Amino acid sequence: MTAPAINRLFIAGRWTDSVSGATFESVNPADTSDVVGRFQAGTAADVAMAVAAAADAMPAWRATPAPKRGELLYRFGALMAEHKERLARAMTREMGKVLAEARGDVQEGIDIAFLMAGEGRRMFGDTVPSELPDKWAMSIRQPVGIAGIITPWNFPIAIPCWKMMPALVGGNTVVFKPSSDAPHCATLLVELMEEAGFPAGVINLVTGSGAEVGDAIVANPDVRVISFTGSSHTGRHIAEQAGRRLKRLSLELGGKNAVVVLRDADLDLAVDGILWSAFGTTGQRCTACSRVIVDRHIHDELVSRLTARTQKLRLGSGLDESVDVGPLVNAAAVDKVDRYVAIGRREGDLVAGGERATGATLDKGHFYKPTIFAGVRPMATIAQEEIFGPVLSVIPVDGYDEAMAAANGTHYGLSASIYTRDVNTAFRAMRDFEVGIVYVNAGTTGAETHLPFGGWKDTGNGHREAGHVALDTFTEWKAVYIDFSGKLQRAQIDNQPG
Ligand code: NAP
Repeated sequence: MTAPAINRLFIAGRWTDSVSGATFESVNPADTSDVVGRFQAGTAADVAMAVAAAADAMPAWRATPAPKRGELLYRFGALMAEHKERLARAMTREMGKVLAEARGDVQEGIDIAFLMAGEGRRMFGDTVPSELPDKWAMSIRQPVGIAGIITPWNFPIAIPCWKMMPALVGGNTVVFKPSSDAPHCATLLVELMEEAGFPAGVINLVTGSGAEVGDAIVANPDVRVISFTGSSHTGRHIAEQAGRRLKRLSLELGGKNAVVVLRDADLDLAVDGILWSAFGTTGQRCTACSRVIVDRHIHDELVSRLTARTQKLRLGSGLDESVDVGPLVNAAAVDKVDRYVAIGRREGDLVAGGERATGATLDKGHFYKPTIFAGVRPMATIAQEEIFGPVLSVIPVDGYDEAMAAANGTHYGLSASIYTRDVNTAFRAMRDFEVGIVYVNAGTTGAETHLPFGGWKDTGNGHREAGHVALDTFTEWKAVYIDFSGKLQRAQIDNQPG
């Protein structure tokens, strides 16, 4: 067997070893004997060099006209499209999601690259009338500075692109720390950014642990904005560190997303949407459906249809196109799911799954059977805490008001969905869900990159990714007044009586 490739950090336009001299492995979660590669265990000293490179690159990059910056994003998006299949296969091998979903993940990266490339020619501010004569008033966006980008493993191409594309078109330079479970995808991405022609120092990659590399990025005084996606636990820690330093911070955190199924729903459609949302990416999406809140009258019927379909799902390596559900990302994730399933056995009726999946090929990886608990109470632990695996709780309720109270009765607020044929009820739900993303007659996943993405409550801190509002994280507003009257004019004074 050949030794796995050793990958490097990317600092100031050069691929370089960490000063630590240490590396770590990334392994295929579907077959843990398959080592994807070795990666540099970066340190605070590496981060300091990356930040210095980003600072050196900043003046020329912010002075580059935004449409020109956008052209590099177009080139990068085109390269991703050209390499889509290679990137998707690398992703499936590294973090496990099935190939069709990995292609979708890359496509999200392409979409946001093109969307933000266009922002290079828009980046609208306001031009408004002044309250005084012969005076011009407008607002413009300017870069914040160096952006620290810290990402999870579950969308290892899409999420880094969602953050880096608006940062770069906005004129910021970047220090990027990917998840230690997906450093290969990050490396491939940065290789394509280098090929696209981003100037040296504009994008810097430092792999390594969250405690070492992530903390050093957050603590560095020259990093002015942090964009983080990951668990609420890590997000809280980063918020405390960043808050003390008055840094701008965008947080995209956990979820406990619900599908509401009312009595008038199209049940076949609901079953399709629930299965796709609950067990796609093996339940490891931030928008995964982990709760189905169903009118009591149709609870048993829905559970029986869901169970029948779940038992037919095929588990295996996502590289096999006939597989429906890939592995969990690592052994710790399997243990966590198993702990929650043990709790679930006391909180609901186990109707599907409930154990590790074993067998000749499955024994090589981190597989868990898609699991359903029926008859769960809204406040049960499995209905409240983010499990981040293929575990679904079905919660019976009486009518719309109780369904909405249950749906909103969590600390999280990312996405929610309702199945109903009544247009009035659908509009009430659009108004009543306390979440950032609502679906009607579709599951809880499937965001498109030109709309805002993010959540309420503990899912975040009020910022949004994607859509043109993504620029808000990475730009400062500047209000500009030009007085061409040739005399002193005092706002709120010279134009008021008395
Ligand atoms: P995680 O454990 O919080 O890790 C996320 C990133 O933070 C990783 O790069 C990690 O590095 C880094 N990190 C860990 N400790 C850190 C520290 N002390 N300082 C700075 N960075 C640190 O989350 P995950 O397991 O990768 O991702 C799953 C979570 O992400 C779920 O909760 C999911 O809901 C959430 N998520 C949310 C969204 C959204 O948009 N709302 C989207 C996707 C995922 P290491 O890998 O080296 O530990």
